[in-house]
Amino acid sequence: MLRLLEIALSTTDEELRREAMRHAVELSRSFRVRIPRRLSLLICRKCMTPYRFDGSRVRVRRGRAGLTVLVTCGSCGAVRRIPLKP
Ligand SMILES: [Zn+2]
Repeated sequence: MLRLLEIALSTTDEELRREAMRHAVELSRSFRVRIPRRLSLLICRKCMTPYRFDGSRVRVRRGRAGLTVLVTCGSCGAVRRIPLKP
């Protein structure tokens, strides 16, 4: 499964990326294995596509709860908030 994730993150072929990523997510569900947090932060929860560094936007916002990272998916446009604990 980790191997699949590696493939998904390293290839530039868009179709292969999606395919490998979907496979990895399915595998992780059926085996009850959690995707490592480090990696799950790089994947859009909505379309299961790895964030592209050229298409995605990352912003850091300072709020009451500390710093929040806003990631906009370059593929589907979903915004994800990742709170950073101080
Ligand atoms: Zn997305």
